[in-house]
Amino acid sequence: MTDAMTAPDVSALDAADPLAHFRARFQLREGLIYLDGNSLGALPMATGERLAGVVGEEWGEGLITSWLGAEWSTAPRRIGDKIARLIGANAGEIVATDSTSVNIFKALTAALSLRRERTVILSEATNFPTDVYMMQGIEAFSGGRVKARTVAPDDIVDALGDDVAVLLLTQVHYKSGRVRDMVAITRSAHDAGALVVWDLSHSAGAIPVDLNGANADFAVGCGYKFLNGGPGAPAYLFAAARHHAATPILSGWFGHARPFDFEEDYDPAAGIARFQCGTPPVLGLAALEVGVDLMLEADMAEVRRKSLALGDLFIELMQPLCDTYGFVLASPRDHAERGSQVAYAHPQGYQIVQALKEYDVIADFRTPDIIRFGLTPLYLRYRDMVETVERLERVCATRAWDKPHYYQRAAVT
Ligand SMILES: *Cc1c(COP(=O)(O)O)cnc(C)c1O
Repeated sequence: MTDAMTAPDVSALDAADPLAHFRARFQLREGLIYLDGNSLGALPMATGERLAGVVGEEWGEGLITSWLGAEWSTAPRRIGDKIARLIGANAGEIVATDSTSVNIFKALTAALSLRRERTVILSEATNFPTDVYMMQGIEAFSGGRVKARTVAPDDIVDALGDDVAVLLLTQVHYKSGRVRDMVAITRSAHDAGALVVWDLSHSAGAIPVDLNGANADFAVGCGYKFLNGGPGAPAYLFAAARHHAATPILSGWFGHARPFDFEEDYDPAAGIARFQCGTPPVLGLAALEVGVDLMLEADMAEVRRKSLALGDLFIELMQPLCDTYGFVLASPRDHAERGSQVAYAHPQGYQIVQALKEYDVIADFRTPDIIRFGLTPLYLRYRDMVETVERLERVCATRAWDKPHYYQRAAVT
């Protein structure tokens, strides 16, 4: 820190933090400040043992009998019911399976099947790319009958014309962390005769979500971000009970009413089970369940309160660096509009993120110039905010980022 900045004493905040005890439930190396839990959540201590049990006993000893004996076959719905408690859904409205991208396809095509007279899938142009790519794939597959349409973020509601079948929107924007008003937008879409698919990848486990309170139609989201389910964890799909008659286009045998009757023709299962496709990813689901169980132990209102407090502190501490080194806040200050991350724009953003690793701080970079600092209240401390800004100050003051190899963009940022 420069002399002008004296680090505030936040030890009282950490001492009074009702979530502080959760940190010991994660494997985190001393000294490391991990601000990328919005991209890959940290490893829960219990995951290794659980996976060893699933591999050694359930798979190794139980072999195929574990589909029933170890309840593998019902894991997608069991874990779906647990995720439902985190995001305001009912039991029987969520399955945990497949990737978010695949679940976007399933949810969009299900919604299209409920609005056959309409042809447009609407989204915002700056949505997470895979969401828009999946829309474009559906357009191509439909031979152009279905149109993928994107508009500027603030034009979404005005773009809800009478040709829009379904709106696909991410509740918390992956770069800025801006939060959309799920209640108001869902109502506008319904008033316009459209359905909505909400992408909750940066919401579940990060902010309180009430899908049924918002009268949501469909939702999808990631298991490996704030839910700490591990790299490539299964994602989840929510379909409101009133939409369970929608026709699944990915008509795989695990969504069949009687998969083990091996019938010749597809007959979708009743309820949420029809939104499954193939054999569930059992190992991934086991790790995901540990992360979800851990999240369920925390009071979501406390998680939100701490997330906002961490963000407020971080934004305040960053102000001198904005003035001196040119960081520009790219996230809303307003609590109602800010998710669980704080982003800054900086022309040397990529190099700065690389240099921060030398100082044992992991953040991430999103093109063209955004540095994201993910705030995960279960394992971050107030003092981590102070130390991050101190280390970032050193990176800037010493120009540690200005090294030739930091100008080479890696394949994963
Ligand atoms: C992370 C993320 C995804 C990732 O999708 P995968 O299929 O799991 O790779 C999708 N949408 C949004 C909004 C995301 O933030």
